[in-house]
Amino acid sequence: MDQKEKVIVIDFGGQYNELVARRVRECNVYCEIYSYREDIEKIKAMNPKGIILTGGPNSVYEEGAATCSPELFNLGIPVLGLCYGAQLMMYVLGGTVEKAEEREYGKTELTIDEPGSLVFSGVSEKSIVWMSHNDYITKTAAGFRTIAHTANCPYAAVEDTDRKLFGFQFHPEVLHSQYGSQMLKNFVLNVCGCSGDWRMDDFAESTIRQIREKVGDGKALCALSGGVDSSVAAVLMSKAIGRNLTCVFVDHGLLRKDEGDLVSRVFGPDGPYDLNFVRVDASERFFNDLNGVIEPEKKRKIIGEDFIRVFEQEAKKIGKVDYLVQGTIYPDVVESGLGGESAKIKSHHNVGGLPDYVDFKEIIEPLRYLFKDEVRAVGRHLGIPDELVMRQPFPGPGLGIRIIGEVTPDKVKIVQEADAIFREEMSRAGLNRTAGQYFAALTNMRSVGVMGDERTYDYAIALRAVNTVDFMTADIVEIPYEVLKTVTSRIINEVSHVNRVLYDITSKPPGTIDLMIKRETQIASASLLQARLQKRGGRNL
Ligand code: GLN
Repeated sequence: MDQKEKVIVIDFGGQYNELVARRVRECNVYCEIYSYREDIEKIKAMNPKGIILTGGPNSVYEEGAATCSPELFNLGIPVLGLCYGAQLMMYVLGGTVEKAEEREYGKTELTIDEPGSLVFSGVSEKSIVWMSHNDYITKTAAGFRTIAHTANCPYAAVEDTDRKLFGFQFHPEVLHSQYGSQMLKNFVLNVCGCSGDWRMDDFAESTIRQIREKVGDGKALCALSGGVDSSVAAVLMSKAIGRNLTCVFVDHGLLRKDEGDLVSRVFGPDGPYDLNFVRVDASERFFNDLNGVIEPEKKRKIIGEDFIRVFEQEAKKIGKVDYLVQGTIYPDVVESGLGGESAKIKSHHNVGGLPDYVDFKEIIEPLRYLFKDEVRAVGRHLGIPDELVMRQPFPGPGLGIRIIGEVTPDKVKIVQEADAIFREEMSRAGLNRTAGQYFAALTNMRSVGVMGDERTYDYAIALRAVNTVDFMTADIVEIPYEVLKTVTSRIINEVSHVNRVLYDITSKPPGTIDLMIKRETQIASASLLQARLQKRGGRNL
């Protein structure tokens, strides 16, 4: 993206590369992630104000380890190396890096030796930093001095003020590092001299302008799901090109209670935006195709396929369009291995899966460089209602994967009602602000109960509430019994065919956040987790 002031993060495959970029953006400085394989000429041409080298799984002295050109350190651009990045900076410039007897993992006390260093402004002499390494710097390269140490690391932080090069053995991007954000802020503002004027409102206005210039009188088509990303993308497009945009909203009948109507209210003819809105009620088709299907992976496939077919039919009615709008966001790009280096294992539906059946010239992804919270900030700036902008993540196949066994309209109704009650009570208790994701699911279990002196043989609803930072692991939310009891009695009383409510307290792993996640995602997160555990010397799962 064209942005006059930017910092480049060079990714060596570390787990936290995205976090590094986020922390930089939190300083209102725009930042992009590139793989270490990126041509240095391209990096130079971007004219960055600063460069940050991330951590990584390799050892610098190994054959074939990820590396960088020594020229990177002679561009006159400030460089900060983090963990592997710091080791590499030393190694490339003539220092030495060796394997330590023991790996160092977790919180460590850092002692600052040079409090006057620009990167330590506002940082206490002693503080906690987070470490994850096995190698360490045993000799610094010429021109560097030590600015901080820990018990095991004589060179926990080094600097060469003349060349504006800095290296941290620890990870400032991880929240466990007490002054980590402050140190990164010091680097981007004090060392790189960024002004910190990147704002979401500017982003919205300039993006609208750019779309208008690019699309001109052309026509664009957007598949609107009512999720945060596609909603924000649609509004940006509508502000830029008005009625030359058509949004197709495929209602598969598997949305949460009243959600389809909310989307129609916001984007339909009575809503505030100027665009063509097409709502397709395709629920009958979906239910027909799902009839009798119980295998979760098969259900997913059917829902995905049907979705594409329905969208295709509508697109055909519109005829040729010039642009197809997608709500791809930055993590999708980075996690697909397109921006950075990490997590190539995670496949994502937003990137790469182009619908080849729609006749269009080009794809527009107005949110391609934004993180989720930034997308939400743009959404709010654009005046999109909080109900849409602050929505919890909701899977594409919708309630279809929150119903175990066969999906029928009756079961969808049950889960919709139960879920609405659960969400309402969570909000009433103020837990909606602290719980990341929470929902009701319909187990396929029926059991005997008694209600009003009558025997019942009805379904059990499962409630689930989790918090997750990275979606790879999740902890359950400890909902107070009082709230659980209210939810339970309301569900039993208000939703017919439910006579039992269960609370799922399985963390992830071994559970998953939703009940039936995509098989590839499951394999990807399992292998990513396994890789992490192995790196930590942990037990395999
Ligand atoms: N692989 C290197 C080490 O073990 C760097 C680790 C990292 O960047 N987190 O020291």
